[in-house]
Amino acid sequence: SGKSSAELIGAAEEHSAHNYAPLPVVIASARGAWMTDVEGRRYLDLLAGYSALNFGHGHPRLIAEARAQLSRLTLTSRAFHHEHFADFCAGLAELCGMEMVLPMNTGAEAVETAVKTARAWGYRVKGVRPGRAKIVVADQNFHGRTTTIVSFSTDEEARADFGPYTPGFEIVPYGDLAALEAVLDEHAGDVVAVLLEPIQGEAGVRVPPPGYLAGVRELTRARDVLFLADEIQSGLGRTGATFACEHEHVVPDMYILGKALGGGVLPVSAVVSSAAVLGVLRPGEHGSTFGGNPLACAVALEVIAMLREGEPQRRARDLGERLHQELAGWVGAGAVTEVRGRGLWAGVDIDPALGTGREISERLLRRGVLVKDTHGSTIRIAPPLVISPQDLEWALEQLRAELVPR
Ligand code: PLP
Repeated sequence: SGKSSAELIGAAEEHSAHNYAPLPVVIASARGAWMTDVEGRRYLDLLAGYSALNFGHGHPRLIAEARAQLSRLTLTSRAFHHEHFADFCAGLAELCGMEMVLPMNTGAEAVETAVKTARAWGYRVKGVRPGRAKIVVADQNFHGRTTTIVSFSTDEEARADFGPYTPGFEIVPYGDLAALEAVLDEHAGDVVAVLLEPIQGEAGVRVPPPGYLAGVRELTRARDVLFLADEIQSGLGRTGATFACEHEHVVPDMYILGKALGGGVLPVSAVVSSAAVLGVLRPGEHGSTFGGNPLACAVALEVIAMLREGEPQRRARDLGERLHQELAGWVGAGAVTEVRGRGLWAGVDIDPALGTGREISERLLRRGVLVKDTHGSTIRIAPPLVISPQDLEWALEQLRAELVPR
């Protein structure tokens, strides 16, 4: 456009709703782990589109598939079949070790789909009395922004003034098996599902205590309750495995996927489950005009192929080891009070006396590193998994200089 960053930011302030507070940088292009702004300055991306860009910006395989499909067929709606639909569903089900797929677009839509499916399963299979179905969720969860999803958020910023709220949810402390067991016992026959992030991303990359996910699996199985794993942010390579649940050898009843499933090219989400669960839905009960469209399926099929080959998971594991080895040495030094995470994913808590997450993010921006704070005093580190070891070292140098200056 020829306009400066300052001009473009000013115009955005004036004409867009203020539901985000972006850092003052205007990106014009990107490749791999690097982004370039409208003035030509380069930045290393340590956010990766909230993990939608696990495979980096402009991955040649994903762009080639998108380009080829773009000129052939982009949308049929689900009124008709198209040639990639069966392959996408079969491929994703196989990657997940499941049987059936229901494609949507955004993460929140996939979570809504999971909620509807679990309720229908409860009434039609488990035999829950009409209108009584309950879903148990964790505090500090983040599952999206729709009215039903914010109804079970514990974050006042996400919730206040958006009621009346959807009933049918019980909130328990994340990581607390005894509390979960108590709620399951109290609401015995009415609970249809437990919905959890295996690692809570927006809450600051909160990793549950060892044994928690396995314990959830045992409790739910024993009570005929579905375990719905929201792996929208944690899944598809980020933690060094295809799914974060794998670290505890846990197989949930349903994976909820999004973000990286569309390779950062377009929104693609899905719920993936058994025929016994997803098979409860009948024609006309649920859908989406763009869900499972040919362009989305073409790109997602290549994402699935790359995950099947395993390189993204390997990189996340190997580079993640280096990341966490370095970060562990910072705890208690400088501004760093705590570090959590798994694979190429970390939450770094900052001593509020030494700066807000926002201030640190702005200082890192001036050093050519893009991160974003979450919940005030946490910096999330989640680079594209294609980041080179050298670039990771450079990023760590910049972070160290801001967070633990000598
Ligand atoms: N679930 C989890 C775990 C997420 O991290 C997010 C997004 O950050 C969502 C759901 C919502 O996804 P979307 O923003 O695509 O609606």
